[in-house]
Amino acid sequence: LEEDVSRLDRLNIVGQMAANFAHEVRNPLTTVRGYLQLLGKKSEFSNYKEQFGLLLEELDRTNHIITEYLSLSKNKIVEMKKCNLNHILLALHPLVQATAVSTQVTVDLNLGAIPELYIDDKEIKQLILNLTRNAIEAMTSGGKLEIKTLVSGNSTILIVTDQGKGIPSHVMDNLGKPFLTTKENGTGLGMAICYRICLRHNAKLDINTGPAGTTINVIFPNS
Ligand code: ADP
Ligand code: MG
Repeated sequence: LEEDVSRLDRLNIVGQMAANFAHEVRNPLTTVRGYLQLLGKKSEFSNYKEQFGLLLEELDRTNHIITEYLSLSKNKIVEMKKCNLNHILLALHPLVQATAVSTQVTVDLNLGAIPELYIDDKEIKQLILNLTRNAIEAMTSGGKLEIKTLVSGNSTILIVTDQGKGIPSHVMDNLGKPFLTTKENGTGLGMAICYRICLRHNAKLDINTGPAGTTINVIFPNS
């Protein structure tokens, strides 16, 4: 419990900082991106297609980092309503597939008969994207990403399984702390956000990991 509390304290500090500057930074960023895209299409810049592509990619990455920080903002409005988790997964499938394709990862959806859950669909989308992104990034030489839903007792479980290299034990011991990353370009915020989202949903994260891969169970209470 003590660990959970200090984790939350840290998240709150990060969240407040994020809320204070993220919106301000995002507006000019959007303008810059818009003009860059416009200029990139002009014939006089046709020799610089690659550079414009890289510039846009870097801006998108910046935007992604801002989104991750914003997710930690405590004052975010949570909109809980009855939602079908399977529908959310089906809607995200093309996006996950698109991320996976460049790394030779195949994506398997295995959706069971589950009840509607009382959730914030935007947050659950983010949870799914964070978990699947990590799964894909762990499979550096390809493999299978399996996304499964099922009912067990009074719970609905979302299971994300990868065949990646596993979570190192020093990371497992501290998973969910902000800024913990083993990646050169990582923010170390994905799992912190997942824990926060789970807390708000009364859901539990259960993780099994080893050198053959990682399985993450998100256990939702049926309402
Ligand atoms: P980031 O992805 O930006 O590094 P995260 O909070 O999403 O930050 O993840 C923290 C760390 O946990 C990762 O850097 C990685 O070492 C480890 N990790 C998370 N998920 C997985 C996974 N499915 N397989 C292997 N390692 C993982
Ligand atoms: Mg991540």
